Amino acid sequence: MICDNISVNEKGHLTFAGCDTVELAEKYGTPLYLMDENKIREHVRCYKNAMQKHFPDGSLPEFASKAFSCRQIYRIMAEEGIDIDVVSPGEIYTAASAGFPMENSFFHGNNKTDADLRFAIENKVGHIVVDSEDELFALDRIAGEYGINQKILLRLTPGIDPHTHKKISTGAVDSKFGVSIETGQALGLVKKALALNNVTLIGFHCHVGSQVFESKPFTDASEIMLKFIADVKEETGFAADILNLGGGFGVRYTEKDPVISYADKIAEVADIINKQCAALGIAVPRIMMEPGRSLVGDAGMTLYTVGSVKEITGYKNYVSIDGGMTDNPRYTLYESPYTVILASRAEDKKDFTATVAGRCCESGDLIQENVAMPKPRRGEILAVLTTGAYNYSMASNYNRVGRPPVVMLSGGRDYVAVRRESYEHLCALDE
Ligand SMILES: *Cc1c(COP(=O)(O)O)cnc(C)c1O
Repeated sequence: MICDNISVNEKGHLTFAGCDTVELAEKYGTPLYLMDENKIREHVRCYKNAMQKHFPDGSLPEFASKAFSCRQIYRIMAEEGIDIDVVSPGEIYTAASAGFPMENSFFHGNNKTDADLRFAIENKVGHIVVDSEDELFALDRIAGEYGINQKILLRLTPGIDPHTHKKISTGAVDSKFGVSIETGQALGLVKKALALNNVTLIGFHCHVGSQVFESKPFTDASEIMLKFIADVKEETGFAADILNLGGGFGVRYTEKDPVISYADKIAEVADIINKQCAALGIAVPRIMMEPGRSLVGDAGMTLYTVGSVKEITGYKNYVSIDGGMTDNPRYTLYESPYTVILASRAEDKKDFTATVAGRCCESGDLIQENVAMPKPRRGEILAVLTTGAYNYSMASNYNRVGRPPVVMLSGGRDYVAVRRESYEHLCALDE
């Protein structure tokens, strides 16, 4: 199996975190999101321990909320003692209302409105990651209105060419995110930030991409960021306290994805950062990383009930399920690979090939194509693996389909973290 929390029991049913998935589907109905709480905690501790071991004191992971946001995940992150990043007032509200200590949060986004900035200040967000000059001046003005001094980081683009690193596309100079080092605009912005009275610059942030299995994109980014930190120190005397390298380590969607140890990768990154800092003659700043997918991805699984099984003679087969792009739009958006297993008969021979289709009125509403499985029967349970990141958080109500519940699994126990959306919820805002 692609992750060690998945197995098959004596009934031939797929199990997840030690629980029988077919029984869970019966108990809660489908579609159903499952999350393995212990797997999430295991990943968080792995990052936290490795970062504290290899980087200077105070180095920590931040959970990138956008991968999976609900109150329970913030309670787990608070218990584990790591930071979070948030990208909207909705995420701020969710975290704050779950009791997350907001001084340990970082607010990102390429277009935070004045209202967003006010909301962040009112909710005592610890750090705002400023994305542009416009935002810097707006934040200084608004912080002044509140009579506070806001800690900030500046988001920079290290100018890493996305073509040299496939799947990486947010750290390039030509990006809607951040300020470019290469053009000199980043240094100009640092000088402006240092001259303002209502904000305090504490460091720099970059994010190079996602689903990365090597340390090189991070160390290429750190090389440029640390050189910048050294240049800034020389030019202005400002010594950055924090370098945030963003998120991005990958998870296994299929057997083709490599198995990596996040702890080993972090050790590799640390080793190179220590050498880079020594060569530049600067102290190693506190290092932050912002994993999203790699904390929650393989902690998730989605269960569906099989509906119609259609064999189009001479063409292909379609297995339709009771969910689709409304609970997992990632195949429709980017043809993301997933592993699909017939949970009801997980060990039967896979002698049938089919496209797994959703229930929405869109031909593109597919979950996966060319899936080998035993020929399913109406009413059987189908599982899609590694759906913990960017599934629930990207879900929609298209076709007025309610979002599935999120059930957490912990030590053989199951509990509801998010309830199923009812018809009343769907109409709650209609006049
Ligand atoms: C999306 C994002 C992350 C998380 O990326 P993952 O690939 O889920 O680890 C972290 N930081 C920023 C700024 C992001 O945009």
